Amino acid sequence: MAKMFKTEKTILVVDDDPMIGDIISKIFKKKFNFSCHVCYNGLEAVKYIESHLPDLILLDVNMPIMNGYEACEKIRQNTRTNLVPIIFITAFDKMDDKVKGFNAGVDDYLVKPFDMRELEVRVVSLLARVEKFIEVSSKDELTGLYNRRYFQDILYHEIKIHMRQNVELSLSMIDIDFFKKVNDTYGHLVGDFILKSFSEKMANFFRKSDILGRFGGEEFILAFPHTNSQLAKWKIEALREEISKEIFVYDEKTKINFTFSAGVSELKKNGETLESLTEAADKSLYLAKNQGRNRVIIAEENKNE
Ligand code: GH3
Ligand code: MG
Ligand code: MG
Repeated sequence: MAKMFKTEKTILVVDDDPMIGDIISKIFKKKFNFSCHVCYNGLEAVKYIESHLPDLILLDVNMPIMNGYEACEKIRQNTRTNLVPIIFITAFDKMDDKVKGFNAGVDDYLVKPFDMRELEVRVVSLLARVEKFIEVSSKDELTGLYNRRYFQDILYHEIKIHMRQNVELSLSMIDIDFFKKVNDTYGHLVGDFILKSFSEKMANFFRKSDILGRFGGEEFILAFPHTNSQLAKWKIEALREEISKEIFVYDEKTKINFTFSAGVSELKKNGETLESLTEAADKSLYLAKNQGRNRVIIAEENKNE
């Protein structure tokens, strides 16, 4: 089958009838290679998605412990989960039931017994639209990198996983040196060209598994999963070397060389959060600027300064 989506999709099926979860999982796995997880009541589902946000939820309504209406409302109230698409699959077929469902925040509604083909097309078209929406809303327009909000969303999740699995993760803040001078000397279009070129360079330079975002202006943020700060620094140093020697050609008359400074911090087991990691990297970046720019500094190496 041709690749239908840019990323692999995960679906959460919530139904107290194990048969339903089983059949849906098998079919979506086989036909679309989606990975499916099954929960048997609303409460279990609400708990599960705290740590495993799926791309879509198929939610039964009549279930023990917590019904579909309540689960849907809870998912919609949580800012981390409120955008996930939800389809009700239920034997409740009255207009009042449907209205209640849509009021609780579902995106679509399918009445049991249903034709599997109908479920498939509804799921696939909803997933496709959401993927497009995420594509547009997650990227910075100028550079094509993740924007700050989306980067933070991903990182928040990554940090949880890394904490749980007890593995290394480093974060870096990168800021172009004297960028204002580029704008002042050559104009904003050339400044934009440098931001785009630098972003492209970074995207090609680092691994696909490293997460790269534009923090704002000429500042970038970079996360290195499964990497300690020494190794992260070493990689950024390699980029720093290259950039400091490279000439970026805008046109015949406009050839630009620039440098950047960076701060690096590492996730330890001391209850770090995304905010504290960012702050530590940012402080080191500030030191790198103060110490003359065009350098990379690790947070813990500067605790006493
Ligand atoms: P430092 O070495 O201390 O970082 O100096 P700097 O000049 O790089 O830093 P400063 O914060 O003084 O200036 C950043 C400049 O980046 C100012 C702002 O106009 C420019 N800038 C921010 N966003 C954009 C953008 O999207 N396009 C362009 N062309 N310039 C931008
Ligand atoms: Mg700067
Ligand atoms: Mg700056």
